[in-house]
Amino acid sequence: MDIEEFRQRGKEMVDWICDYYSGVSERPVRSSVEPGYLASQLPRSPPQKGEAWSDIMQDIEHKIMPGVTNWQSPNFFAYYPANSSAPGMLGEMLSAALNVIGFSWIGSPAATELETIVLDWLAQLLDLPACFRSHTPEGTPSEGGGVIQGSASEATLVALLAARTQAGAAPEEAHRLVAYGSDQAHSSLKKACMIAGISHCRSLPAAAANGWAMDPKALEAALEEDKAKGLKPFFLFAVVGSTNTCAIDPLLQLGPIAQEHHLWTHVDAAYAGAAAVVPEQRHLFQGLHLVDSFNMNAHKWLLTNFDCSPLWVRRSEPLKQALSLTPAVLRAKGNALDLRDWQIPLGRRFRALKLWFVIRTYGAEGLQEYIRHHIRLAKVFEGLVRAHPKFEIAAPPRLGLVCFCLKDGSREQNAALLEALNSSGRLFMVSTDVGGKLILRFALGATSVQQSHVEAAWQQISQQADQMLSQH
Ligand code: PLP
Repeated sequence: MDIEEFRQRGKEMVDWICDYYSGVSERPVRSSVEPGYLASQLPRSPPQKGEAWSDIMQDIEHKIMPGVTNWQSPNFFAYYPANSSAPGMLGEMLSAALNVIGFSWIGSPAATELETIVLDWLAQLLDLPACFRSHTPEGTPSEGGGVIQGSASEATLVALLAARTQAGAAPEEAHRLVAYGSDQAHSSLKKACMIAGISHCRSLPAAAANGWAMDPKALEAALEEDKAKGLKPFFLFAVVGSTNTCAIDPLLQLGPIAQEHHLWTHVDAAYAGAAAVVPEQRHLFQGLHLVDSFNMNAHKWLLTNFDCSPLWVRRSEPLKQALSLTPAVLRAKGNALDLRDWQIPLGRRFRALKLWFVIRTYGAEGLQEYIRHHIRLAKVFEGLVRAHPKFEIAAPPRLGLVCFCLKDGSREQNAALLEALNSSGRLFMVSTDVGGKLILRFALGATSVQQSHVEAAWQQISQQADQMLSQH
């Protein structure tokens, strides 16, 4: 395809995308194909000769789209959202067109420098402590700064590796290192420990009475117990906005304990981090001045297309010590910032462009209005649940997440209700297990969701429940 054909096909693709977005609410949200559906529809071997673009696009609608779960549907209430926006998509498009690999500064100076600047902007929008910015407010370089990772799981892993370096454990001591998180922490903690060879990953029980947050007393007790056994605590994984119920670990209480025991505290705010753009939610983040690293996914709830997972560190040195390696081909003059030293892979995409486009297009006020809109909608949904005699709220509702279940409903009944709703294609939610109970999660945050979608979803849910319960 030459560049003139690309000009035409590119315009057609934008038209296709606009039509997709205009009609996405009519498409089934969750794909209903069976595993392996595609193999019977596509040739077993690649084409010998290139094919016409129109033939390829035909297959998109007929073969690919049935197997797409429509995350951009306003009726998508599953997991946590994966935001997309027009400026986010344009940023992706431009990044794909430039296709620079900014592993080192000279690989594309603008990629590195824009990333640093835009993460300093975002740190200000989220009101993060100044230590997380690359420069002090007066413009002097600081010890900390931000870097865009591909995912929160990667951010967890690199923070853990930096913590291990900071702990200065000799190789023969590595088997004594202990990482801590609550049993509500994301599984990326366990995975990071698996990858890093940390065999002690302690999962501290969080209780319903605490709103499923980590109990500082349980942390203290575990630290004392482990030290008495000769182990070496080094890493605390705190969550602001857990995956199950959006629980908030109390950073203000955990921070001093972690500092006393010389732990590196990493805050996983993959979903909830975006909420810090609104001043009235910043109380959830109190205590960030006590932590070493903070991560949120702009690709979840901040209008920036996947992938964009900013990680800020108070001190970048341990990260660089853990991750730098300079093969001969990458040797460069000077002491420019090489972001390959802040991440696992060598290659890195120009992800700052889309975040910059989003922040400039919406501005602080637009982003705040966006987050408040979803929090308002979650309140509407919560009100509908509370007003219904057959349902109850199953965990303290927070931000855009409302966990609920059938009052006195069995596990099987809740699961059957969920499956009936999801297989209708009209909305998509997921369940989770908390305290031995299966509960349903209604996660608000799709870019285009409006009150009418929430009301329609509730009508579906309550009617389906009435129908199911009347059959028993
Ligand atoms: N942390 C929390 C609280 C999450 O909810 C998730 C995913 O939903 C993750 C971490 C992992 O995110 P990622 O897919 O970016 O690795």
